[in-house]
Amino acid sequence: MTTNLLDYDLEGLAAFCEQLGEKRFRATQLFRWIHQKGASSFDQMTDLAKSLREKLPTSAAIKGVKLVSRHDSEDGTIKWLFDVGAGDIIETVFIPESDRGTLCISSQAGCAVGCRFCSTGHQGFSRNLTTAEIVGQLWFAEHCLRQQFKQQERVISNVVMMGMGEPLQNYAQLLPALRVMLDDHGYGLSRRRVTVSTSGVVPMMDRLAQDCPVALAVSLHAPVDALRSDLVPLNKKYPIAELLQACARYQQFAPRDFMTFEYCMLDGVNDQSEHARQLIALMQHHAKDGLVCKINLIPFNPFPASGLTRSAMPQVMAFAKILLDAGIITTVRKTRGDDIDAACGQLAGDVQDRTDVVRRMASQRQGMLGGIKVVMARETSA
Ligand code: SAH
Ligand code: SF4
Repeated sequence: MTTNLLDYDLEGLAAFCEQLGEKRFRATQLFRWIHQKGASSFDQMTDLAKSLREKLPTSAAIKGVKLVSRHDSEDGTIKWLFDVGAGDIIETVFIPESDRGTLCISSQAGCAVGCRFCSTGHQGFSRNLTTAEIVGQLWFAEHCLRQQFKQQERVISNVVMMGMGEPLQNYAQLLPALRVMLDDHGYGLSRRRVTVSTSGVVPMMDRLAQDCPVALAVSLHAPVDALRSDLVPLNKKYPIAELLQACARYQQFAPRDFMTFEYCMLDGVNDQSEHARQLIALMQHHAKDGLVCKINLIPFNPFPASGLTRSAMPQVMAFAKILLDAGIITTVRKTRGDDIDAACGQLAGDVQDRTDVVRRMASQRQGMLGGIKVVMARETSA
C-alpha cells in the first residue's frame, strides 16, 4: 500500500519522513515540490537526495483527483468534474476577477444536511472526501491554471469551501487540508482568504476557532427557527440562538470582518419585508453578545426538484435596503458561471445534467445594482 502524500499537512509529512528515517527539512523540500511546483513524480525533485528519490516510490505516491470533464463559461468561470470512485462525481469551480482568483472546493460527495434549496442536499450523502481529495482539487486547479496562463506565480488567491458538502461534517479531513492551504511552504494563503462555509455545525465551529480560525460564512437563510428548520434541517439540532452565540464566540478568535451570513433569497418564502425586520431584530439582539454581522444576499439558483423560485431583483434590493437602513452591512452576490451550471447549489454532481445548459441572470452581470454593491459568486472575503 502506498501513501498518498496529498493527504498530509507539513506536520504529517514530517512524521511520514521520520518513519523513513529522513530529517524534517526533507519533508519541507518534498512539500514545496508537491504544492508549490506541482510535482507529481519524485524524479522531478532534483534537489532531493537520490537515495530518497529512489526510496519514496516504494511507499508513497502523489495522486490527484481523476478529471472527468472541464466546462468553461463565457465569463471566464471554469468548472471541473472529478470522479472520486463508486459513481461519485465532485465539482470544483474557479472564478477569476481582476484582482483575485477564487477556487470553490467540495468537501463531501453529496451532503447529509438536506437543505431544501440546494441540489447537493437533494442528492443525499455519499461519503466524506479525504484530505487528499480536498487538497487535490486545489493542487490540480492551481497548477493547471499556471500552465494555461503561462504563469510562474500563484493564480488562486482565495479558496472558499462552498462546493458540494458540509465541510464541518468532515472536520478531521478538512483541518489538514486547511493547513496545507495556509502553510507558507504550501499555498501560503492568508486566513482571511480561506473561507469555510457552514450550515451551522455549532460544536465544530468552536473547534475550528481553536484549531484554525479562517474566514467563516454562516448559511443563515431565515430569521426565525420554524422557517430555518424547514429550509436547513440542521437547525432542529442547532437552533438560531445557539448558532449565533457560537458565531459571537468565533469572533473572539478571528477578526470580526472574517464572518459573513449567507441568505439565499427565495421568492415568497424568506424575502418579505417582515423577514428583513425579523433579521434586524435578531442581529440587534445578538449584538449584545458582541456579534458583528455582515449579510450577503444570494439570489437563489433554481433547479426543478426544489419547487422554489428566485426572488425578483427588485425584491432582493428592497430587502437589502431595509437591512442597510438599519445599519447592517449588506451585499448582494453576483452569480457567475450559470451558463455551465457552476453557480451555488447547482453542484449536483450528475454528469448527465451538465448537457442541459441554461442561460440565466444576464441582467445581473453588472457591477452595481441600485447603488448596492454586488459581489462575486462565493466571494465572501477580500
Ligand atoms: N454546506 C455549506 C457549504 C456548501 S453550500 C453551507 O451550506 O454553507 C455553499 C453556499 O451555497 C451556502 O451558503 C448555501 O446556502 C448556498 N446555496 C446552496 N444552494 C443554493 C442555491 N440553489 N442557490 C443559491 N445558493 C445556494
Ligand atoms: Fe449541504 Fe450546504 Fe447544500 Fe445545505 S446548502 S445541503 S449544508 S451543501
